[in-house]
Amino acid sequence: KKEGKKDFIRQIIAGDLAKGKHETTITRFPPEPNGFLHIGHARAICLNFGLAQENPGARCHLRFDDTNPVKEDTKYVEAIQEDIKWLGYDWGEHLYFASDYFDYFYDCAVQLIKDGKAYVDLQSPEEMKAGRGNVKEAGTNSPYRDTSVEENLELFEKMKNGEIGEGKAVLRAKIDMESPNMNMRDPALYRILHAHHHRTGDKWKIYPMYDFAHPLEDAKECITHSLCSLEFEDHRPLYDWVVQNCPTPSEPRQIEFSRLNLTYTVMSKRKLLDLVNEGIVAGWDDPRMPTLSGMRRRGYAPESIRTFIEGRGITKFNSNTDFALLEADVRAHLNANADRRMAVLEPLKLVIDNWEEGRVEEMECMNNPENPEAGTRKVPLGKEVYIERDDFMEEAPKKYFRLAPGQAIRLRGGYILNYVSHEKDPETGEVTQVHVEYIPGTIGQNAPEGIKCKAAVHWVSVDHAVDAEIRLYDRLFTEENPDGFEGGFMKCLNPESLNVIKGAKVEPILAEAGKEYSCQFERVGYFCTDKEDHEQGEKIVFNRTVELKAAKF
Ligand code: ATP
Ligand code: MG
Ligand code: MG
Repeated sequence: KKEGKKDFIRQIIAGDLAKGKHETTITRFPPEPNGFLHIGHARAICLNFGLAQENPGARCHLRFDDTNPVKEDTKYVEAIQEDIKWLGYDWGEHLYFASDYFDYFYDCAVQLIKDGKAYVDLQSPEEMKAGRGNVKEAGTNSPYRDTSVEENLELFEKMKNGEIGEGKAVLRAKIDMESPNMNMRDPALYRILHAHHHRTGDKWKIYPMYDFAHPLEDAKECITHSLCSLEFEDHRPLYDWVVQNCPTPSEPRQIEFSRLNLTYTVMSKRKLLDLVNEGIVAGWDDPRMPTLSGMRRRGYAPESIRTFIEGRGITKFNSNTDFALLEADVRAHLNANADRRMAVLEPLKLVIDNWEEGRVEEMECMNNPENPEAGTRKVPLGKEVYIERDDFMEEAPKKYFRLAPGQAIRLRGGYILNYVSHEKDPETGEVTQVHVEYIPGTIGQNAPEGIKCKAAVHWVSVDHAVDAEIRLYDRLFTEENPDGFEGGFMKCLNPESLNVIKGAKVEPILAEAGKEYSCQFERVGYFCTDKEDHEQGEKIVFNRTVELKAAKF
């Protein structure tokens, strides 16, 4: 399907398949259900599920890595599934929960103890930390390292039964306190947590550590290639140690790739949760969030997210990707696919003096000039029309080509209108309406001699206009790298990231639009109806997806 050079992971996999090491590939996407998925996760999803589509017989598991009960919740389990499907991927029947393996993890731990490869450490967390040493200094053995197998089995049983308090003991692997790799200095395998788990309830008082559980989960599911982000590179020796020293049905291989980061946003779930909890955004799916559900609500097409992810490739080097690149892919997709519609955000009324009272004429407008097959639609025109307030100026400077005294304009897809006069509010000085005359025979024709008309503006007939609420979204942060901002990411929020326009006027066909309908408002930008608050024919609510052109910085 895909041409060109394969990324390094696909090269490794092609090699493994060619050598006959595996018959096919089994990958997994293993989110922890402690938040919604973000655009960074999309890289891991596209890679793992993409591989399942590329190789015959291959599959990708969706596995919830729910071994830390404190922050996990069923509502996240549901949202994650919805987002993966929306992005265009399917795990079929291969849905798994790490919590289903709790007995297996426990049995593996008992086996390690019996083999003399794990022990219960009763030191305080501080003592354990001191004993680990640091990058320059070797660690020292715990006084509990040589406790007998029987004693360890008994203590571990007590941990399991809730007879030892939180933080009072951990089960540690007996590896090497002098290893240059800190992860190998007798890492913790189990800790005590008297917490309620979203699936196993209060059954367990001990929970496995990620580094112990993850390789066992992979091995149990016969994952061939366990693909994870770069921060786990140093954990790979421990991953392999667990697989080698525990009774596992297979030996998966871990390969790391770089995380996706984006400018002008934060990506860690903890920080995104802060934004939700502090009420900075309306929820995980707020259109300003870098979450998949936020981007969906903003009007980003799943195709454009996949295009963006593919365009960045799979590498070994972490970097910060320009948000503008994502927006460019979103825009390109909409340019090719979205209907053109007219909406006036800040309406100014024009009265066509020479138009008969009650006359309505239908203008034929192209739905998408990029795609003639999208056809045309009829847009009604009556005696009064709304145009954008800034498409008229009382005193037009030299380069202003729109409506002004002495200057005509064209209604997009319609007639040329010549300026006649305008009225103002005597108190505020604001222009209240403009009188114009239409020039018959000018639809699709040039202006007659002596008429200056250089611009075609969008418009909506007053009698046919539909009221709409329009939410103009912008970046959530003013800084390119909010994570690195002095004082923290909460200190560089963009105060103008949302601007709600209540009195906008849109063309009548939009009253029929359902939820999540995307279109271009001509000359304004790309918009979509809100997934939650828009009600067809009742309450019209559009979100700005992206501007027509990239902003200059
Ligand atoms: P966060 O740090 O944002 O909370 P996480 O890595 O803790 O994310 P998980 O739910 O554990 O989130 O992630 C599931 C999978 O998605 C993991 O394999 C992880 O490596 C991958 N992943 C998460 N964030 C990114 C990212 N920014 N780029 C690429 N892959 C990512
Ligand atoms: Mg995590
Ligand atoms: Mg093994």
